[in-house]
Amino acid sequence: MTETTGVTRTGVTETTGATEATRGTGSGGGTVARPVILTVDDDPGVSRAVARDLRRRYGENWRILRAESGEDALEALRQVRLRGEQVAVMVADYKMPGMSGIQFLERAMDVFPFAKRVLLTAYADTEAAIAAINVVDLDQYVLKPWDPPEEKLYPVLDDLLSAWKRQERKVIPAAKLIGHRWSARSAQLREFLARSRVPYVWYASDSPEGERLLAAAGTDGRQLPVLITDQAEVLIDPSPGELAAKVGLATIPDREFYDLVVIGGGPAGLGAGVYGASEGLKTVVVEKNVFGGQAGQSSRIENYLGFPDGVSGGDLTHRARLQAVKFQAEMVLTRHVTRLDLDGLTRTVVFDDGTSVSARSVILATGVIYRQLPAVGCDALTDRGVYYGATLSQATDCAGCDVYVVGGANSAGQAAVNLAQKAGAKTVTMLVRAPDLTQSMSYYLIEQISAIDNIIVRPCTEVVETAGEGHLERITLRDMKTGATETVDCGQLFVFIGAEPRTDWLGDAVARDSRGFILTGPDLAAQHLEGWPLERPPYHLETSVPGVFVAGDVRAESAKRVASAVGEGAMAVMLVHRYLEQL
Ligand SMILES: Cc1cc2nc3c(=O)[nH]c(=O)nc-3n(C[C@H](O)[C@H](O)[C@H](O)COP(=O)(O)OP(=O)(O)OC[C@H]3O[C@@H](n4cnc5c(N)ncnc54)[C@H](O)[C@@H]3O)c2cc1C
Repeated sequence: MTETTGVTRTGVTETTGATEATRGTGSGGGTVARPVILTVDDDPGVSRAVARDLRRRYGENWRILRAESGEDALEALRQVRLRGEQVAVMVADYKMPGMSGIQFLERAMDVFPFAKRVLLTAYADTEAAIAAINVVDLDQYVLKPWDPPEEKLYPVLDDLLSAWKRQERKVIPAAKLIGHRWSARSAQLREFLARSRVPYVWYASDSPEGERLLAAAGTDGRQLPVLITDQAEVLIDPSPGELAAKVGLATIPDREFYDLVVIGGGPAGLGAGVYGASEGLKTVVVEKNVFGGQAGQSSRIENYLGFPDGVSGGDLTHRARLQAVKFQAEMVLTRHVTRLDLDGLTRTVVFDDGTSVSARSVILATGVIYRQLPAVGCDALTDRGVYYGATLSQATDCAGCDVYVVGGANSAGQAAVNLAQKAGAKTVTMLVRAPDLTQSMSYYLIEQISAIDNIIVRPCTEVVETAGEGHLERITLRDMKTGATETVDCGQLFVFIGAEPRTDWLGDAVARDSRGFILTGPDLAAQHLEGWPLERPPYHLETSVPGVFVAGDVRAESAKRVASAVGEGAMAVMLVHRYLEQL
């Protein structure tokens, strides 16, 4: 094995422990290029030392590039991308003149969004590194000096590289979705694809490329949206179910009878799926939309155990879904449950198309959904500029725009930070009914928001009207102290005003409280238990029907947190076992 080292015209040095022959071109050379680990440090000594240590351990399978300024490193990234190659990890020194490590990583994210980001810092700069976690979605920071690398550098890199490998990098040909920018159907499908992690590229139907694709697909564009799959199949205005089936996601349960049916694929349902299947129960999780639930819409969950740097809700729930599949839980989406039938010891879950699946036990994990904004004209503009939640697919349209967020709780705060920093909104105005954020938002988030220049908080303000031709164009705001109203231009309004359970479909099947939350165990009063057939009282998470359990936000008096939902999912499975043993 020869070692070659050379300075390229970008001022970037390539250090490699592999021969030219294995390096490959990635574009017709017949060999696949090794993914890159890039380091940037303005101190040549440190820069060489990092590259040397990286090369020693990773040089054989990864290509190590080193640069001595942010500009050089960015240029190198662009060249790597032009060659169609991949960057797995970027390690940047925090303190560099000209462009700091954080600034570099922020710009590098545009070129290689999936590359893992590491900041190299001195001990004294640890706080800045922690602050950068939010700015650039930092994956890790490493303290200088990192000796011995076996203890302080390699374990970090090993973890990141294996996470990057798991990440299904997007060399996969992507599906193409063509639609009208302000169409609610387009918004729903974009959200569905994004949250299901199906790679796709979005084209506005009136853009030159959109028109070209529609013509190539043989459609006149009158019926939109149109999906062209990576196999070049054309689907015109598909339902989420058709779309899911076409991109290889399961929409029909394999069996007719299970030990356990879990309804809802949020954290509670995913927790129940993982624990049910891993403990030997034939388990199916049915979800009406996509997996992830509310948590899937959270840009960064900071309080989930084991993730000191936070984790995006999408990532967390995606991993949970993979974990459930690993244990052979069946994960079925786009199936809306509309009825629960009880027949002796059989519990039957009926879907909206009349088909059904039966089991010996059921866990209800249907969570809550956003409350609708009570403003004039709002219903007609939902998904046409008025959005409940703020997911990546909607946020991508916000660059350079003045957008509004309604609500003053953590979910609204996280969305505002995300829109201001990642989606590139020009300004984000938070409309809050309360006099300030302290009553409803965590202290750390209030601090974060006050440090971001393009977030404006408007207290004592409510939205009374939304208007626009076909899509949102204006909103009318009312000052709750003076009653004065003001109409402002607004193309995107993201609403986070609390949530409520949607449990009407259960009818009288199980006892619920006056707000619709499901009662369990000690919360069930005598009148709820008139038909209770067993001598023992209901278990802690058991409803007024034996063998039907509840986990997560939909349970009366639940904590409304990701960790508690996951925990209840696991605990409900333990109680299912206890119930089944007694049958
Ligand atoms: C934007 C945002 C940010 C948040 N941030 C945090 C945070 O930082 N930390 C934290 O601890 N908590 C956070 N939360 C709260 C947390 O996400 C919830 O407590 C958690 O998701 C509850 O999980 P769950 O599984 O009980 O319900 P949900 O997450 O609501 O999931 C329920 C699932 O059931 C499905 N479903 C509903 N009805 C049916 C039906 N009839 N048939 C089939 N499927 C059905 C839904 O589509 C949904 O996917 C946040 C919430 C939001 C909205």
